[in-house]
Amino acid sequence: MPELPEVEVICRGIRPFLIGRTVTAIQFSGKRLRQPIPMETMQREIINQKITAVERRAKYLQISLHTGAMLIIHLGMTGNLGIFSPSATLAKHDHVQWSLDNGTELRYNDIRRFGSIQLLSFHEVVTSEETIFKTTGPEPFSDEFSAEYLQRLAKSKNLAVKLFIMTNKIVAGIGNIYANESLFAAGIQPARKVQTLTRKEWTSLVIEIRRVLGNAIKCGGSTISDFLNANQEKGYFQINFKVYGREGETCTLCSAKIEKQKIGGRASFYCPNCQK
Ligand SMILES: [Zn+2]
Repeated sequence: MPELPEVEVICRGIRPFLIGRTVTAIQFSGKRLRQPIPMETMQREIINQKITAVERRAKYLQISLHTGAMLIIHLGMTGNLGIFSPSATLAKHDHVQWSLDNGTELRYNDIRRFGSIQLLSFHEVVTSEETIFKTTGPEPFSDEFSAEYLQRLAKSKNLAVKLFIMTNKIVAGIGNIYANESLFAAGIQPARKVQTLTRKEWTSLVIEIRRVLGNAIKCGGSTISDFLNANQEKGYFQINFKVYGREGETCTLCSAKIEKQKIGGRASFYCPNCQK
């Protein structure tokens, strides 16, 4: 499943190929995703409109049009976007092609079809933080996401820190893998109750979340040329994780063995020696 870094890499990868371009035609496979693909509205609202911005909010890609309307795409479990030459053969599971005025195409591929494509009107875009993103917290790279912010929210909660940082309303887009890796980097046990964390630990956690996500984005950036090839069989990028999936293996910092524990039903990996 694509996590925040994968979505950010796709966003940065397709952005330079889309900004300033105009959509000239849209085609689709006829299959529905998690919701039906809004073909009629897209035909009406997007054709002949210029793309002005390509951004990410949580795990959504947002493609803004000159009119203020916005395509908002969630990749679900297996979704992917890439830029192709129209002469490149369509891959199995390519569901939407947006033709651009320079003769290229943006294609959406999704094997399991759990993704979604929505088209928001200008008015819906303006209010999206109160509607679609009502339960989505600040971005991990935003100023709002700080040690002070986390400590304030943690005060009244009796929750394991790993579940806390994986709560979308608290911070956007931190999934299981990056929660495990960030807590290892910050030296904090995933099961620690949030009220017991000190200001220093929250500060360290904020720094490490940004560093771990930032590194993943940087690693993913080097695979971007693969995304832009026709090779849609290629999966999401793999990072060398320090604890995730390494139960029983030796810690990279000490000689202890990485342990696994279920917290809130999710696999949690940690070093019993390095994480307090
Ligand atoms: Zn260790």
